[in-house]
This record gives sequence, C-alpha cells and structure tokens, in this order.
Amino acid sequence: MTITADGLTKRYGGVTALSKVSFSVPAGAFFAVVGPSGCGKSTLFRLVAGLEHPDAGKILLNGEDVSGADAFVPPEERRVGVVFQSYALWPHMTVEGNVAFPYEARGLSKDQAKAAALAHIRTVALEPLKDRRPDALSGGQRQRVALARCLAGEAKTILMDEPLANLDPHLRSEMEAELKSFHTRTGVTTLYITHDQREAMALADVMAVMDQGRFLQMGPPREIFERPSTAKVARFIGRGTVLKTVVAARSANIGALRVPVTARENMDGPAEILVRPRDISLGNEGLRARVIAVHYRGGVWEAQAEAEGVSELLEIDSRAPLSAGETLHLAVANAWVIPD
Ligand code: ADP
Repeated sequence: MTITADGLTKRYGGVTALSKVSFSVPAGAFFAVVGPSGCGKSTLFRLVAGLEHPDAGKILLNGEDVSGADAFVPPEERRVGVVFQSYALWPHMTVEGNVAFPYEARGLSKDQAKAAALAHIRTVALEPLKDRRPDALSGGQRQRVALARCLAGEAKTILMDEPLANLDPHLRSEMEAELKSFHTRTGVTTLYITHDQREAMALADVMAVMDQGRFLQMGPPREIFERPSTAKVARFIGRGTVLKTVVAARSANIGALRVPVTARENMDGPAEILVRPRDISLGNEGLRARVIAVHYRGGVWEAQAEAEGVSELLEIDSRAPLSAGETLHLAVANAWVIPD
C-alpha cells in the first residue's frame, strides 16, 4: 500500500505539531521517520493511523483520500495495523488466540479463525509456541505475535511507534533483526517512528529526518548520511563536524589543509562542509591537533580533537588507543558541501 501525504498540517492550540508535510512512500517500503522528541513524529503517526483529523492537507492510502473532511476513513477501515511499544497483546489469550482474534471479530467461527491464524503464526515462526500466553514469551516473540496479529487484521501497512524504546541494547539488535526479516518476508509497507537515528538507518529503505513539524530531508539512509541537505541533518545523523569554509575548484581549506570536497553541483564560495570521522586519518603528517576527549567504543576510540586553525572540534576515530592531551597529525580525504 502506498502512503502519500500532501501538505499535512496539524495544530494543537498555538502549537503547530506538523507543518505542510508532503511525501510519498512506495508500496512495500520500510519508511522510518526520525527526529528529536517533540518534532511531530507521533502526530504524523496518529494522522496516518486515523486517530486524529488533520487541520489541512490530506493522506492517501493506495491513492485513496482517507483524511479529507468529507472522506474521513476511520482507523479500523484503513487496513493499517498498529504496533506500540507495549505490543498490547491480550494477556489472558494464547498466541493463537491473539492472532485469531481479528478473524473472530469479523465473524469467523473459533475453528475457522484458528485455521486462518495459523498461516500468520507460521510466517513469524511461532507455531511451536502457539499455546503459550504472552507472559511466557520473550520480548522478541511478543513483537512477532503483534506483527502476526496485524497480518490477521489484513493490514496492508504496519505503523510502529518506538517499538524498541526502553529495551536493552542486546535485545534491541535482536528485535531489529526480527523486524527486518519480517519485512523482507511479508513486504508490508511499514511506517516506523523513532528518535533513534541508528535504528532508523539500520531498518529503513527510505527515511525522513524531522524537526519542528517539518521534513528536513527524505531519502535512502545512505544518501542522508553521506549527502545531508542541511547542517541540521548533518549534525543530527551520525558523528561528524560541520565547518564554515570557502569552496573553490572542488576543494576547501580545513585549517591549513587543502581538502577535496564533494558537492551536488558547483558550489564555489562560502559554504558549510561536513567532515565524517571515517574521512580523517591519523598519521605523522598533516594538520596538528590535540585530543580533547576520548570515548572507548569497543575496538574504536572515538575522540574530539582541537586542530590548528579550525574553529570547531573535529570528531575522529582511531583503532589504536588515544588519550586526552596527546598531539596528533590529521589528514582529511574528503568532505561534503552542505547545499543549504
Ligand atoms: P514526537 O512524537 O516527535 O515526540 P509529538 O508529535 O508527540 O512529537 O508532538 C509534537 C508537538 O505537538 C509537541 O510540541 C507536543 O507538545 C505537541 N502535542 C502533541 N500532542 C498534543 C496534544 N494532544 N495536545 C497538545 N499538544 C500536543
């Protein structure tokens, strides 16, 4: 199911939670929306789910306007499945009972509903556990039950609002893998809301970065990481340093270093550039810098360095130990010229 928003706007009193948001997500995509707390992600989610009416603009599901003043389609008729953080499973029902529930609600007999549920229970590989209740399942298994129940509800789109928030990192990566394989197997269009850019990047085919009710940029995760369109996106996604400089002939100065730059088009003149740690190498030659702070991240030392003639701290990575106060020499292989 395609999801399209056209000028979508939502206000709460004096607060504009969503401001003229337009986008189009192809059927079968995993679309992650990421942004800081309060930027309007949940508002977007509730509008697509049909839990709220927009003040202006519209939402089209598979080309059908579902949100117009005359055409408002209620949530239960949108064929949109919703997965929240808690998964909201029925605690007194088994896995089978939970997944069969949408069929029973549509009038199938208990046996028919169970038979229909089985296909979805198999899709999420829970057949051996179908007689268990949710409290006897792991978090990942509960998530799979919630997804299977969406399929039983004939969801053509699944909406997820921070389903992995508050999980410990180990469980979180297991759940991410589950979500990814569920999506690959079913091809259900997914709208995934998160404040965690790392999670969005790992899961999405296409992601959007939001701030203050607007979409700053939308595209494949790699495009957003490598070619951010604004300094805000560059600072929000991944580590790196945004610097003011002057671009000429596809190169720019970082301190006394002349560095090749990549740009969308010829952008000679004053500009902001983004330097990622992976483009900075540490050696015996180059820009003199002093390490200010170091964090050890399992195999990699992430640090900030004050470089001669550079006003911002440079984010650097090292596979060899670094310590605060030591002096280094940096070479920069490339930087991205931020278009806006
Ligand atoms: P996010 O999910 O990104 O944290 P929200 O969509 O929840 O952001 O909120 C966007 C803005 O709208 C915030 O300023 C929030 O305070 C405001 N807001 C959200 N829901 C309501 C509501 N029901 N009443 C009043 N203000 C709201």
